[in-house]
Amino acid sequence: MSTASLKSKAYEELFEKVNMLIFGVRVSDETAAATDAGITVKEGGTAAPGKAALPFVMRTPSGFNVIIKRVEKSEYALEYSEGKFIITKNGHQLFSDILFEPRPRYYNLNTTDGKPMREIGMLLTDGCVEVWYSNECAFKERNEECMFCGINTRPQDTFLKTSRQLAEVAKAAFDEGVARRVDFTGGVIAERREIEYYCDAIEAIRDALGGREIISSACVAAPRDFTNISRLKEAGFTNITINMEIWDENIFKTICPGKERTVGRDRWVEALSYASDVFGFGHIRCNFVTGIEPKHKTLEGIERLAAIGVVGNPNLFSPAPGTPLEGTRCPTPEWNMDLQQKAYAVMRKHGLTFEQVKTAHAETNGIHHDIWRIENEILPIFHNDSEESIEDHRWRNVIHV
Ligand code: SF4
Repeated sequence: MSTASLKSKAYEELFEKVNMLIFGVRVSDETAAATDAGITVKEGGTAAPGKAALPFVMRTPSGFNVIIKRVEKSEYALEYSEGKFIITKNGHQLFSDILFEPRPRYYNLNTTDGKPMREIGMLLTDGCVEVWYSNECAFKERNEECMFCGINTRPQDTFLKTSRQLAEVAKAAFDEGVARRVDFTGGVIAERREIEYYCDAIEAIRDALGGREIISSACVAAPRDFTNISRLKEAGFTNITINMEIWDENIFKTICPGKERTVGRDRWVEALSYASDVFGFGHIRCNFVTGIEPKHKTLEGIERLAAIGVVGNPNLFSPAPGTPLEGTRCPTPEWNMDLQQKAYAVMRKHGLTFEQVKTAHAETNGIHHDIWRIENEILPIFHNDSEESIEDHRWRNVIHV
């Protein structure tokens, strides 16, 4: 097949992935159990209806990783047929040979204070140990949380992970050879103490890894005092994430009231510019939620930020249950594909590379990441010896029951 045909086939498959991300996938408990999730296959980090564990992610034939969102009424279904996993759409086979990611060995270990390591640091598909350091956001106390965000919806389960726990998990994951970087995320800590927390945590992790430099990212709210951004760099972080979520200044005020009142939208943009000077071109990420504001506004933000080396990440809108936006919906797959293709083109135009874009993210299975993979011809279907193709062989070694 010619390269053009392969690309065309890949875009068709990517469009189905976008559908599955928006509308979800049906999975019976029997199929979930057959995947071996939680035993040899890496299980999902989010709870889903049903009793059996689900794989975190599944890989389509062209090599797209789809994070599994279980939806009982979806027209897409993951099924187990004649020893293979397949995806059906309205009862007809769409993809065969669906693969799952192997479960890392450190998921079986506990920290010295008895916490399951898989709950402290989750391994993402690009070798990134992602740490949700807390599940609270101080904006909630003032009823100023972002209107789509469900971080505080289970207050009975609050936690704050310790530096020691994080260091033990990072060491286990790096020693196993499955991790190559660390990414921190979570809510805003009361009195804005997240900078101290991050500095302590990265120091403990680096000590545990013998003092060496590691690629690491901290997600913070824009600080009032910009020297706090420099402190994160001095502590050893190589990347920083400062999420605006919304570019339009009036919609930002409504959807993100805590960010507006605590820092202010213009100051947020200034913080991203300052961070670019400190961390360098391509080492900063800023998330946007797609479809709350008009498409051209999100693209305007992504372009303005790409010009100063900030990777804009258009995240699919998925309002959490219990939030003011519950019941509203993500725009159509066509709308999102168009936005993501334009976002990719803008980033490329301003000189960002796929390596920078990937390293700026904890999870690299976004739609614009896949567009980079298609355009750079590094998907497994292009049959080259890229790192991603080598990674594919690791997936093929998973043994299914
Ligand atoms: S600042 Fe972040 S964690 Fe807090 S409500 Fe907004 S999106 Fe959620």
